[in-house]
Amino acid sequence: MNSELLRIGGERRRGVATDLVRSPYDGRDLGSVHRADREHLEAALACAERGFREMRALPVHRRAAILANVAQGLRTRVEELARSIAAEAGKPLRFARAEVSRAAVTFELAASAARHSSGEVLPLDLEPRGEGRLCVATRVPRGPVLAITPFNFPLNLVAHKLAPAFAIGASVVLKPAPQAPLTAFLLADLLDAAGLPGDALSIVPCEPAHAELLVRDERLKVLSFTGSDRVGWHLKSIAGKKQVLLELGGNAPCLVDEGVELAPLLEPLLLSAFGYAGQVCVKAQRFFVHESLYARFVAEFAAGARALACGDPLDERTVVGPLIDERAVARVQQWIAEARAAGAALHCGGEAERAVLRPALMSGVPAEAKLSCEEIFGPVAIVEPFARFEDALARANATRFGLQASVFTPRLDHSLLAHRSLDYGTVLVNEVPSFRIDNFPYGGTKDSGFGREGVRYAMDEMSEWKTLVLA
Ligand code: NAD
Repeated sequence: MNSELLRIGGERRRGVATDLVRSPYDGRDLGSVHRADREHLEAALACAERGFREMRALPVHRRAAILANVAQGLRTRVEELARSIAAEAGKPLRFARAEVSRAAVTFELAASAARHSSGEVLPLDLEPRGEGRLCVATRVPRGPVLAITPFNFPLNLVAHKLAPAFAIGASVVLKPAPQAPLTAFLLADLLDAAGLPGDALSIVPCEPAHAELLVRDERLKVLSFTGSDRVGWHLKSIAGKKQVLLELGGNAPCLVDEGVELAPLLEPLLLSAFGYAGQVCVKAQRFFVHESLYARFVAEFAAGARALACGDPLDERTVVGPLIDERAVARVQQWIAEARAAGAALHCGGEAERAVLRPALMSGVPAEAKLSCEEIFGPVAIVEPFARFEDALARANATRFGLQASVFTPRLDHSLLAHRSLDYGTVLVNEVPSFRIDNFPYGGTKDSGFGREGVRYAMDEMSEWKTLVLA
């Protein structure tokens, strides 16, 4: 069984203890990771400072070549990486393979963005004092980046922090998710093989209290966090002078307007609501369906949900794998019970076998129930009918979250109205809410986040203007 040592810059060191990584599906041991304490974190901080100086000085062609090499490495090791993601995060293979391809795109985008990042030349002779002078403004990295990542995309969401940081010439200290830390070490092997300077990356699995020491430490200049809103906003409150980027949770609405053809929509909507057991921040959670389509939608969506293959994430057919642990199953079942006690109807699913919960569709869920107002992060969707499109938009907005929202409509005026009025980071028209291409600005409003990822936009967050005046 693999036991991953800490990575302190280019060196591998023993930690104070080791933590087992188990399959969320059948509990088997997958390996372990060493755990860092204060002393290791101090060493990682020293590496991050040295690594920052080295990365900042590295010419663009070298940075771009490293990133492009990693992309190529990812493409040649899709199967190995997908199996690692499937095993530790419980993600069905088909989605795990897609995650590896996306991570390759993320690194390709970073290679290209590194080559094309440029500055601005400003006229200074707009007043007489500035005559004969030139101003050049360029983007420079703010400093070493602290990356804290969630369990559900253990490769691509690590890539979304490492690739932009290296593209702008920064170093990174990474604290991966305890449930799924192994894939990040495979990525580090690819970075080493691609020629990344050792001190540019430390990987330090550690307890939250120790991770908070890093969040408070002034030597790290950027915190890039992806995870739950509870943890994210707390970390922002203790991050001091750091630039903070938060990618947090959501409870995505999906509106199905009058006149939409349902049949071709069902499969993508089922995958968006229940694929990977709904453990995706932009999964379709709240459906609002025009009353003319409502009865058919409920019947056909529930039938489709019953037919989805559930079980072993390493089985090629599986769509709905396990939740990350049995505590998550108990939480989601308790939320279903709460909604039923308040009068909601359960149309299908909700039964569990160990960590696998069968996909559930519910209607009549009160607005105050957790299934309506919190992030489910499980294979449950709720549905309600609407008569007026404007009312559905208002209900879609009646949440503390604002990550991605989707609207299916044949009408251009409704598309534009949705874009104007939905208070979300992304509004998707005639596409599912879980759709993302890794180049577009991605992030949330309200409790869902602060700042944007999408390689170029993350590079903006991790860098600042530096101005040169030449007289
Ligand atoms: P989580 O918040 O429990 O953990 C995320 C990371 O933070 C982990 O590495 C965890 O160990 C660490 N952490 C926890 N407490 C900490 C503390 N006090 N100090 C420092 N680090 C701490 O989230 P999770 O369960 O791993 O992931 C699921 C959540 O992530 C969901 O809410 C989901 O919506 C969100 N998410 C958001 C996006 C996005 O792009 N917006 C993408 C994926 C997941």
